[in-house]
Amino acid sequence: MKVLVVNAGSSSLKFTMYRMTGEKVLAKGLVERIGMDGPRLKFETHEGNKIELKALVTNHDEALALICKKLVDPECGVIKSLSEVEAIGHRVVHGGEKFTESVLVDGSVKDIIRECFSLAPLHNPPNLGGIEACEHTFVGTPNVAVFDTAFHQTMPASSYLYAIPHELYEKKGIRKYGFHGTSHKFVTQAMAEYLGKPVEKLKLISCHLGNGGSVAAVDGGKVLDTTMGMTPLAGLVMGTRCGDIDPGVVIYMLQSGMSVKEVDEMLNKKSGLFGVAGIGSSDMRDMLEAADEGLGHAKQAVDMFVHRLISFIGAYYTALGGVDAIALTGGIGENSIPIRAKTVAKLAVFGCKLDEKANQKQGEAVTITTPDSPLPIVVMPTDEELMIARETKALAGK
Ligand code: ADP
Repeated sequence: MKVLVVNAGSSSLKFTMYRMTGEKVLAKGLVERIGMDGPRLKFETHEGNKIELKALVTNHDEALALICKKLVDPECGVIKSLSEVEAIGHRVVHGGEKFTESVLVDGSVKDIIRECFSLAPLHNPPNLGGIEACEHTFVGTPNVAVFDTAFHQTMPASSYLYAIPHELYEKKGIRKYGFHGTSHKFVTQAMAEYLGKPVEKLKLISCHLGNGGSVAAVDGGKVLDTTMGMTPLAGLVMGTRCGDIDPGVVIYMLQSGMSVKEVDEMLNKKSGLFGVAGIGSSDMRDMLEAADEGLGHAKQAVDMFVHRLISFIGAYYTALGGVDAIALTGGIGENSIPIRAKTVAKLAVFGCKLDEKANQKQGEAVTITTPDSPLPIVVMPTDEELMIARETKALAGK
């Protein structure tokens, strides 16, 4: 079975084409800067063909048409005809409370994705645009929607409710939804396999540390709690997002004359590592280099990042009543040797000791605590596209 995975953003359309036998990536790439100056296609295949070209693309339909043209191109393509694509999986950011798992797309599913526009105004509209572009191009091929929020729908009300008047939840849907669910689900399954323990028996703290970041407490494959909230602004210190903050600060900023737009911009785009460090970057590699050189407040930013992370790990350890393992993933979790070392050091209270040699590895599954550590900390690379492809195969194959 061949499955196409599509991730449609406001100005980009990313794709990965899988042959599900052996879960092999046949081709992947993206069209970026859609509807902006100088749109570009980047396309590469498992056979090493690489294409990068400028294109005139004003919407998702045109972007998809361009990708399809390359997929079937006799020179660089990986399929003979589009009819070889048996199912298409779509990343959809917000499924609200309606979707607890992935679904085959039909009219009513699209209506609910539309209903969730107000909860994810930047993401759900283009996600739906991607689905509709595929409906136009691949007539009759099943489309599957895989939601970032779905895995977290098992959270109990004690985790997902905010301590505000209950009617705000009932009338406006104000509650914690959580994000990165596809990644946390992939990591949960991969950890169960890695540890040789059934998912149903696994207590896990999954830490997705990328530009955005979130921690999830997972008990028997069900999320007990997670750090992102109604929006992806809550929780960890992120690249440019503030994470948890006293809501009184927001009121104070508004009262002191900042507009809603300015506060939004400040907390989403100018805060986090970027805002604290003041070195003009939000990248953890730059942060660590600048911290070594004593530049700006980079050391402070790194310390805050680790402090916030281990605080959530401690809280979730308690909430779960102990855990079997902690998983680190995302760009920072998979690659940043110093951040991992600092994190393990701060978790000494659980008996964790760093295995210095294992911690030199990057981008592969590895236990970075010593064998005598009672709580293993494991680097587990995530693969959201593959998770979407698996869910798509399972649903379309039914
Ligand atoms: P996104 O959330 O955009 O998908 P990623 O998961 O790619 O982001 O993570 C990006 C982060 O990972 C950046 O802060 C980057 O500095 C960090 N990162 C990537 N590679 C390394 C590395 N080798 N060492 C340290 N940090 C890294």
